[in-house]
Amino acid sequence: MNSAWQTSIIILVLTLVTFVKSKGHFSYDDQSNWPHEYPQCDGRRQSPINVKSAEVIVDEDLNLQFKKYDEPFLENNFYWVNDGHTFKLSKTDLAETHIISGKALDDAQYRFRQLHVHWGSRNDYGSEHSVDGIQYPLEMHLVHQLLDYDFYPTKNYNQLAVIGLFFVVGKDNRFLQDLILTLPYLTIVNKNMKVNARGENGLIDILPSDLESFYVYNGSLTTPPCNETVRWIIMKEIQEISESQLNLIRAAFPKLPTNSRQQQQRNSRIIYTSNSKPMEKHAPLPSSSNTIYMIYIFRSILFALILSMFNFSNKRL
Ligand SMILES: [Zn+2]
Repeated sequence: MNSAWQTSIIILVLTLVTFVKSKGHFSYDDQSNWPHEYPQCDGRRQSPINVKSAEVIVDEDLNLQFKKYDEPFLENNFYWVNDGHTFKLSKTDLAETHIISGKALDDAQYRFRQLHVHWGSRNDYGSEHSVDGIQYPLEMHLVHQLLDYDFYPTKNYNQLAVIGLFFVVGKDNRFLQDLILTLPYLTIVNKNMKVNARGENGLIDILPSDLESFYVYNGSLTTPPCNETVRWIIMKEIQEISESQLNLIRAAFPKLPTNSRQQQQRNSRIIYTSNSKPMEKHAPLPSSSNTIYMIYIFRSILFALILSMFNFSNKRL
């Protein structure tokens, strides 16, 4: 079966069956009410935020180490799940693989637990964080948990370390294709679907090639209960996702224009960066309607050209 057929079938299944019912205790339509039920959502170190690059402090000692991120997904350990608010890739065992550490994490070790995505219905918004006001159509969060509670006194360490990755519209993302093919099976909330156990897949595939350029700050979960115990690492290198992949993800939550939290005040927090390299820049991308318009124009020109060629050859006869 070719990929066009696969895409059509996925869209059909999503349209017929989907309409994933939002389950959980919060709604993105109603963010101003989160603090009523979850008081921490009104705290002083909330996430997400806009990073102003002119205000960050460079600390070249900040680094990150990744242990065993090149291990392929083991058949029983990784699941895709739709939790009613997003799609998550969860690691179900607590084996000590996929560990991050380094000075950016105060030398503590954090174990990978899950990754998930935030997106918007248009290409000019959807990411939770932004840098200098620029938002992206999708942001991925790789959530890690402090390895050993006893060894690291809880009062001194963030319980979670989350790596944020921005995506722009571009070519197909090989890593996310596994999610795309699993989407039709993720219409039931909280039903686990095993990751396609293709040998080459590993978490390393989703990481940027430049693991040394990032922003660091202390913040919170971006969903209730908004616990203020997250060390955020925002990568400067931007990843790509194709518009058709993005549209399939959007189509799975048709009633949700975005699952991105509104940005919060930085307050007195300092944002650090590991080097003075600027955020990777991308040329503005045409929106989907522009793309369709351009295809329409191109086809019209081509049609006119063929017609004129036909007329020309007729005259010669
Ligand atoms: Zn998130």
